[in-house]
Amino acid sequence: MSKNRAFPLRVQEELCVGCGLCASSCAYQAIEMGDFPKIDADRCRLCGSCVQSCPVGALEMDEVAPAAEAPKQETSGIWVLAEVEDGALAPVSRELLGKAVALSAKLRQPVEAVLVGGRIAALAQELIACGADRVHVVEAPALGQFVEENYSRVLADLAGRLHPDILLVGATQRGRGLSARLAALLHTGLTADCTELDIDTESGLLHQIRPAFGGNLMATIVNPTHRPQMASVRPGVMKALEADTARKGEVVRHDYSAFAMDSRVSVLNETAEAAGGDSLEGSHIIIGIGRGVKDKACVAEIRRLADRIGAAVAGSRAAVEAGLVDASVQVGQTGHTVAPDLYIAIGISGQIQHTAAITGARTIIAVNPDRTAPIFSVADYGLALPVEEALPQLMNLIPAVV
Ligand SMILES: Cc1cc2nc3c(=O)[nH]c(=O)nc-3n(C[C@H](O)[C@H](O)[C@H](O)COP(=O)(O)OP(=O)(O)OC[C@H]3O[C@@H](n4cnc5c(N)ncnc54)[C@H](O)[C@@H]3O)c2cc1C
Ligand code: SF4
Ligand code: SF4
Repeated sequence: MSKNRAFPLRVQEELCVGCGLCASSCAYQAIEMGDFPKIDADRCRLCGSCVQSCPVGALEMDEVAPAAEAPKQETSGIWVLAEVEDGALAPVSRELLGKAVALSAKLRQPVEAVLVGGRIAALAQELIACGADRVHVVEAPALGQFVEENYSRVLADLAGRLHPDILLVGATQRGRGLSARLAALLHTGLTADCTELDIDTESGLLHQIRPAFGGNLMATIVNPTHRPQMASVRPGVMKALEADTARKGEVVRHDYSAFAMDSRVSVLNETAEAAGGDSLEGSHIIIGIGRGVKDKACVAEIRRLADRIGAAVAGSRAAVEAGLVDASVQVGQTGHTVAPDLYIAIGISGQIQHTAAITGARTIIAVNPDRTAPIFSVADYGLALPVEEALPQLMNLIPAVV
């Protein structure tokens, strides 16, 4: 039984059958199994998950009155969680730093990047060049491979000691899971997939702006009582600053070599997926195919055009559902956000769930026979023609706009 009798969660040993289900249900690793579960009151967040998982009702939890107001803790710093891909800084980290610099001008707080990994310290200078005033380096052999549980616990510990005001994470494959886990460990909120971030000059709160209700309105979300204020942003949404190699900043190393990593997870091997399909994030020109492109023969024509101009081919959700393009290249609210030099929308009507993800494109050309289609309100150039007639004209138009 927990030694702390006043603690609101207790094990009734006379009922417990020692099955360990409570320990495996606890996301915070707050239960250690011996003959009976032992609850670590420092780690326990009183989430109640273990109580529900117990098949014999052996866990008892008192009702906890909600805190009237979170204790006010001095917080400072706009943190950007740097992501490392194959030893290099992920583009989204530079983009988040660009936004953090803009936020810092209003909030008057330093921009701080956090680098976690096995051998990553060499990247600190690049983060400074991209806008960080300070870089926290957490380098340990055990962090050489990305294990969400380990990274989140290390980051939670660091943030728990240094109290950042804001924490920004890339909404990448890694960042999505990591940010959610980290927010839970820090007991704070997280707004995922923000399309804009700003500071309310009166309150100093972070305005976390993202599409809501299927993209039909933009919601501004604030977190007035918990810290850090956490937001994730997809790659391609924010603009990175030009790297300035002469910029000076501070590098702070943190020793986590003795930190207890999560023993339940280990990476046995890593297998690279065979490259294939179109890579959208790095493409300068993207052709987006919509449901208006009615068959695969027409898709093949568009692919030929794409090959000639060095474009990647993507699609709307309707095009994915119609089997015209692969789901991995869907652009939109539930797909990729892209920011190419040129986006050519062919047979796409321009619903907000699609257009919200292409606003970062420098130039947009739309092809659609319906002159009233909403895609024309975001396009720089338009061809109000069916795709079959528009393709030859596109060949002439493209060199003029890129
Ligand atoms: C929660 C939610 C998330 C969503 N996420 C996404 C997302 O991530 N990405 C996404 O794209 N959508 C998403 N959608 C769906 C979105 O609302 C639209 O339904 C979708 O974008 C429509 O795709 P479309 O423009 O290809 O098809 P349509 O809306 O059917 O438009 C087809 C267009 O083709 C034109 N056309 C017809 N004939 C031709 C021709 N011969 N040549 C050229 N044009 C022609 C038509 O005039 C029409 O404007 C989401 C919806 C919801 C509710
Ligand atoms: S209440 Fe939640 S955090 Fe506490 S021990 Fe149970 S599962 Fe873990
Ligand atoms: S789930 Fe219930 S019975 Fe099983 S070890 Fe935990 S408290 Fe005991």
